[in-house]
Amino acid sequence: MSTVHPPLATAEALLADGTTVELRPLGPDDHRAVLDLHAAGMSEESRRMRFFGVSRNAPRQAADRLCGPPRAGLLALGARAGEELVGEADCELLDGPPETAELALAVADRWHHRGVATLLLEHLVHAARAAGIRFFEADTLHGNHAVHQVFADLGLPVERRYVQGEVRIRVPLDERDERYRSAVDERGRSADVASLAALLRPASVAVVGASRREGSVGRTVLTKIRQGGFAGPLWVVNPHADEIAGTPAHSSVSALPAVPDLAVLAVPAGAVPAVAEECGAVGVRALVVLTSGLGPQEARGLMRACRRYSMRLVGPNSLGMAQTDPAVRLDAEFGGAFPRPGTAGVAVQSGGVGIALLSRLAWLGIGVSSFVSLGDKYDVSGNDLLQWWEADGRTDLALLHLESFGNPRAFARTARRVTGSIPVLTVDAGRSTAGRRGAASHTAAASTPTVTREALFRQAGITATRSIDELVEAAALLCALLRAQPLPAPRGAVAVVSNAGGIGILAADACAEAGLELPELPAELGRLLPPGASVRNPVDTTAAIGPTELALFLRALEHEPTVDAILVCLVPTALGTTPAQDPVRALLEGPARRRVPIAAVLLDQQVPVRYRTCADGGVLPAYSDSVAAARALAHARARARWLAEAPPAPAEAPDCDRSTARSLIDGYLTAHPDGGWLDPLSTADLLEAYGLPLTTAVWARDEHTAVAAANGLRTLGHEGKVALKAYWPGQVHKSALGAVRTGLGTEAEVGSAYRDFTERFGAELAGAVVQPMAAPGVELLAGVVQDRVFGPLVVLGAGGTAADVLADRAVRLAPLSERDLTTMVTELRSAPLLTGSAGAPAVDLAAVRSVLARLSHLADDFPELVEADLNPVILRPDGALCVDARVRLERRPSFDPYLRRLRRPAAAEGK
Ligand code: ADP
Ligand code: MG
Repeated sequence: MSTVHPPLATAEALLADGTTVELRPLGPDDHRAVLDLHAAGMSEESRRMRFFGVSRNAPRQAADRLCGPPRAGLLALGARAGEELVGEADCELLDGPPETAELALAVADRWHHRGVATLLLEHLVHAARAAGIRFFEADTLHGNHAVHQVFADLGLPVERRYVQGEVRIRVPLDERDERYRSAVDERGRSADVASLAALLRPASVAVVGASRREGSVGRTVLTKIRQGGFAGPLWVVNPHADEIAGTPAHSSVSALPAVPDLAVLAVPAGAVPAVAEECGAVGVRALVVLTSGLGPQEARGLMRACRRYSMRLVGPNSLGMAQTDPAVRLDAEFGGAFPRPGTAGVAVQSGGVGIALLSRLAWLGIGVSSFVSLGDKYDVSGNDLLQWWEADGRTDLALLHLESFGNPRAFARTARRVTGSIPVLTVDAGRSTAGRRGAASHTAAASTPTVTREALFRQAGITATRSIDELVEAAALLCALLRAQPLPAPRGAVAVVSNAGGIGILAADACAEAGLELPELPAELGRLLPPGASVRNPVDTTAAIGPTELALFLRALEHEPTVDAILVCLVPTALGTTPAQDPVRALLEGPARRRVPIAAVLLDQQVPVRYRTCADGGVLPAYSDSVAAARALAHARARARWLAEAPPAPAEAPDCDRSTARSLIDGYLTAHPDGGWLDPLSTADLLEAYGLPLTTAVWARDEHTAVAAANGLRTLGHEGKVALKAYWPGQVHKSALGAVRTGLGTEAEVGSAYRDFTERFGAELAGAVVQPMAAPGVELLAGVVQDRVFGPLVVLGAGGTAADVLADRAVRLAPLSERDLTTMVTELRSAPLLTGSAGAPAVDLAAVRSVLARLSHLADDFPELVEADLNPVILRPDGALCVDARVRLERRPSFDPYLRRLRRPAAAEGK
């Protein structure tokens, strides 16, 4: 087995019914527990199934086998609920077929049918894969339906062979199998929703730490819960009072007349761990912790109680939560007014943003299904809420405010699914944390957190906005589109109509800047407009337009095939002072439901956005500024495009030689345990194993061999010339230091270039690389960066020695889809240089796609590849060629972002 990866890690995860269990490798300390599991925990029949007979010694033998000193080739994982070992899964490499481990499973009888075996298997599959195991095999009794069901449901293809009452099962372990991933997702989703019910639909609630003092957090929440009309029993815990605000108080959680589903904690930070522990011990199933300022020890105590007793946790440092479902009506927050019931799910990291967002939504008239202030996100995160809203039957719009990501890849995968059914909008906070990474390499510097997050949002189909106002403005349109209007056609071409020419021009500018197209309109439409009007887009109706004319014109416009959306910008003029002449009235007397979406810009409106009700009862979003309206339309178009495209296929990269790459990487990391930059020739070997187009290069240690190498390569070079590059370990930018000489045509030129290197770099010089000159073309950079949180990213950008100055880059999370390959190219500012629209011939775009796809596979296959920088990749109409590549390797544990596990908040890590 490979020794590079620590094979098993501990994790907490949810069973099918939402119970938390801890998964931990088994060791000598677990002997007693393993013995109990196989003896007292299992009936004789279960043991017969497990051990194919009734030997009294079987439990002890199992415990001896699993809990001896660590043995190469054995991976054994236990699941614990509280103190109890409820199940075990192990696999062991035996003398059978290669890369195949013998699998065994045991679950305590009373824990059957709760998904223990499946969860253990998922984690064991991951650990086994990381350790180089590719198949599980197991012998099972023919009548062991429970085990056969576990394998059938797992999602991996299972081969079965029947031999005399026994079934030999063989499972190929492919975590990337999409069917397996979806099965894991589905289990994760339903377990998550089950675990969140006590939090989001509690039948009873206790407020712990409500004080008599008016204006205190606990008391405010208590009052709000009562005033909100919570449907179930409500209790207060306060040892120093008999009653608080009319609600009888109890001395402790254990003294309550019944066990609440949810406890809202407003106790001082120091008391949080003990109260959480007490809640868990009596059987509370969810906590909302309003307290802020927890120290590391308090954080750990809180998390320990939550995991041990299977409580989901919101906060700490939360403003609270609200559930508007009339059957629940829980207003457990100390922000603003209880939100009106509705269909928008809202989750915010910052309470202040929550208050601002809720008040704007209330003002607009968008109701809320559930609201959660996530606070410090020790446990419940945006990912959980997305899954809840996806399934709650009440939410059709999700609004998220996110400052940080625990597991961005898992979030992206969930969001990608959820955005297929409901719009997910986010206000992306923390965009300016520049300089997070040192200037270690150009590619690394390229992937600032901002581009990375933008990549995530784009790849997941999330509508990302930059401010609360922009979020609300986009939500106003998307909400109207959900209720009364169609989404625009994916082309999203806008007709701008205004009764004042200058206003129309500004709106047209705003649309163009938001990336919207303004099609030419047919001249005949002009017949519907007053004399002097212009039917060019933007349409200037002139201030003289009457209400009837405007209504007719809009009706004609919505049937115009080149128009996918209409923006009507109206400014009050002295001509429209009587109601009969008022163009706004004319607009509102028309329908909101039209063939294409319609939004208004009303220049005398005092607030940024509001709904106006139209004659058909539908609502029309009206903005005070065309920039906001245009941005909202662009978001709606992006969503239309997202929905119109089929789920993208993964980018393909045929003939990648994984085992050559594996042995190169392992070889390097064995020799350099601290990692580092590969030398030029090994870099070329690694990249070529994945089919990346590296130019020919020959290594030369002195002037003489350099001249000889150049003579050998010259015929391959453009105009018979070569390039010579000095090399020393750890070099960064070569040309800036005079270490690159290009276009060398004669032996004398090569010789003098080498001598020059010797003079310049002295003893540092390790040698030089000789390459044929590549024919000129467009220089791009392509690369990979491993982000600590986001995982592997693929970068494409304008390249060459000025790459950093140009800063023209597209970034995506690996693995890339076929669509990513396309959009990465088209979103570059320098895209016209590639597609031929800038006058030069189009380059070989298939070659660019292939480079990106291969980098994506390389990054995805090897977490050890922390940086790869191909700059430049020279692109020509007939192909791509990389003349300079650097690769940095580091030991990294293999991490599967999609493995089902609960968060481990950094604040609660450590001793
Ligand atoms: P560095 O990026 O470390 O400065 P490079 O090897 O990328 O060094 O060389 C700098 C520039 O020289 C490249 O961007 C490219 O324009 C040019 N160049 C380098 N090698 C070749 C080559 N073999 N053929 C053509 N041009 C080359
Ligand atoms: Mg370079």
